[in-house]
Amino acid sequence: MKKPGAIILSFIFLGVLSPLLFLNAAADNTPYLKFCGANGTIFGTCHLLYTGKSTILLDCGLFQEEGYPKREVDRRNRFLPFQPRDIDYILVTHAHGDHIGRIPYLVRKGFAGKIYCTEATAQVAREMLKLLAWILSHDSPLYNQHHVEATLKRLVPCRYNRTYTLPDGLRFRFLEAGHIIGSAMIYLDFEQGGDDYSLLFTGDIGNPAAPLLRPQDIVEDVDYLICESTYGNRLHSNAADDMKKFAETINTAINRGGKVIIPCYVLARTQNILYFINKMIRDKKFDRSFNVYVDSIYANKMTRIYRKNSQLFNEETKKEIRQRKPPLSFPTLKEHKPEEKIIGPAVILAPSGMANVGSIRTHLTNYLPDPDSVVIFVGYQPEGMIGRKLLEGAKWMKIGEKTVPVRAKSYYLSSFSGHADYHQIITWLKNFQRIREIFIVHGQPDSSKYLAEYIEAHTLFKAMVPKFLQKIYLTPN
Ligand SMILES: [Zn+2]
Repeated sequence: MKKPGAIILSFIFLGVLSPLLFLNAAADNTPYLKFCGANGTIFGTCHLLYTGKSTILLDCGLFQEEGYPKREVDRRNRFLPFQPRDIDYILVTHAHGDHIGRIPYLVRKGFAGKIYCTEATAQVAREMLKLLAWILSHDSPLYNQHHVEATLKRLVPCRYNRTYTLPDGLRFRFLEAGHIIGSAMIYLDFEQGGDDYSLLFTGDIGNPAAPLLRPQDIVEDVDYLICESTYGNRLHSNAADDMKKFAETINTAINRGGKVIIPCYVLARTQNILYFINKMIRDKKFDRSFNVYVDSIYANKMTRIYRKNSQLFNEETKKEIRQRKPPLSFPTLKEHKPEEKIIGPAVILAPSGMANVGSIRTHLTNYLPDPDSVVIFVGYQPEGMIGRKLLEGAKWMKIGEKTVPVRAKSYYLSSFSGHADYHQIITWLKNFQRIREIFIVHGQPDSSKYLAEYIEAHTLFKAMVPKFLQKIYLTPN
């Protein structure tokens, strides 16, 4: 017979242990999310979802912080808080480098699963990953073209608004995100231990004022939402005012015989600007004719992908196509060839948007000293970058090895952004009847915090900002 003390002890022991045993048992296959990138930053998006049966990544992008020491950026890109071979598959929202740019590195390190994305994302990813491998080869070769080819073989192109069921029982659907061609939000649901779970990941939410693409799809009910916050504490300037300013600035320069230099990224921003210029030409907003040069092989490839996927355009653009007004083709649009001399007034679009790398540097070197030319920035210019210095009125500019006098004026138009601002995000969120909890990611710390507080103040939903590497267990609905 047991002594009373032993019985009491075993009760205490079991009393302490049993919740632990229960927790451990529950933790073994309880679904969870782990935030592995884009926390407190807009770079390196990577969220790990464990469903109890599979381990899935939602995007896996590059850290590309400007102004950080290259070694630190490289260290962050190489740090993986999971074993790539343990990841069963990857679901991808869109083909920007900060969302797909580390996938070839995962392949190099042993990832052997499939990568699901929309059909247009697969087309863009093909070009984008080759471009990234080439850019990375200069200072931190995370992977090479061979790894890119191996990655492309794993892509499974999917349709929008069709539910796919995977062998582990997980179901997913790509919804329109309106951000770049092929961009999607991912809705997924699965069953675990007799309970149902649903999750929506926004990827990047498009700016409804941007042209060409359809607006975001609407969802009414979801357990968990992972939401971006690039513009979580900022509002865009008025789009109509910016369009007027854009036409006026181009007119001023071309009437003087000058050049209009527009630093812009190869994907989405270039195509949106071409759309607006084309529309303004048709609407006779310009005083005279001029050529429009796009100085980037990749930008021109992306424009072709946009043209090929016109079924993804919004109703207004489709109507224009039916009226024989192609949105991204016009007689004065030219693909600039290396060493080609540009004569007379012209608009020149060249990467990168921050003017720190790429062919834009040649054009700035050539035309900043020209008082008849202008520079129009169509994206945010962080502290310390060439763009910011020009906008602040620098008199001299060092570009590579050369220092040139600045006589051309610079302007910034913010409404060309590819992201929804916080008012636009709230408007979209108000379509939901129910969200259990919102996780705010993809923003500077102030931006994410502001959006979480704004959501709690203006909706009935709960929002929190997860920290880098935070693991959150999901509870059934
Ligand atoms: Zn993006």
